[in-house]
Amino acid sequence: MSKLEIEPVPCLKDNYAYLVYDRSEGVCGVVDASEAEPVKRALENHGLKLTHILSTHHHMDHVGGNLALKQAFGTEVVGAAKDSARIPGIDTGLKEGEIFNLGSHRARVLEIPAHTSQHIAFWFEEDRAIFTGDTLFAMGCGRLFEGTAEMMWASLSKLMSLPDDARVYCGHEYTEANGRFALTVEPENRDLQARMADVRATRAKGLPTIPSTMGLEKKTNPFLRAQSPEIRHSLGLQEASNVEVFAETRRRKDKF
Ligand SMILES: [Zn+2]
Repeated sequence: MSKLEIEPVPCLKDNYAYLVYDRSEGVCGVVDASEAEPVKRALENHGLKLTHILSTHHHMDHVGGNLALKQAFGTEVVGAAKDSARIPGIDTGLKEGEIFNLGSHRARVLEIPAHTSQHIAFWFEEDRAIFTGDTLFAMGCGRLFEGTAEMMWASLSKLMSLPDDARVYCGHEYTEANGRFALTVEPENRDLQARMADVRATRAKGLPTIPSTMGLEKKTNPFLRAQSPEIRHSLGLQEASNVEVFAETRRRKDKF
């Protein structure tokens, strides 16, 4: 199989759109077209023509460029079937387990609600890349705008079932602030300490901290670590369920 290239496109204040392309097959998607102009410039710089727009959820900072890009390129827009009323320009609605084909590259759709009531991830299993939108961030997770802690825990648990070498591409550059919070609830986590040193050095150079991997997230992301004795101790929730620990971690991050 030929290689799937992935290129982050910084948009707005701290969003990432991603160009996902295979030149040999003449396919190029953009995941979460926050706005049209930076995506158009990135396409020109790489000499690419847009063929698909993949939307993880309806928030404007993820779909704001859909209509302008669709008009400019005649692009097919794909997103959650259950949210077709809120995804601008949607042509193809996808449900849990369905396959989206970008040329020969297959992405399985995972429904991961809670940040919004309908939110999907695109899991390119053979290419080892998952696009998680605003559900899973590097060392963080999305706010619970349209769902409950139970829903988010179920969505994150679904993502945790992916292999450790899955590269995680998320919707925002929030990594350093997320890591600062993570250290408040799990200060003795050595993997977390080491990662934060890397992240600070990367951000000091103005570079993206994306992608991470599922393996690294499982070791350092407090929202995936409800079983951690140190986090439970920090929260005073030694005997609580995983969902309760997750919910309290989320509440504290909201106030951080
Ligand atoms: Zn969002």
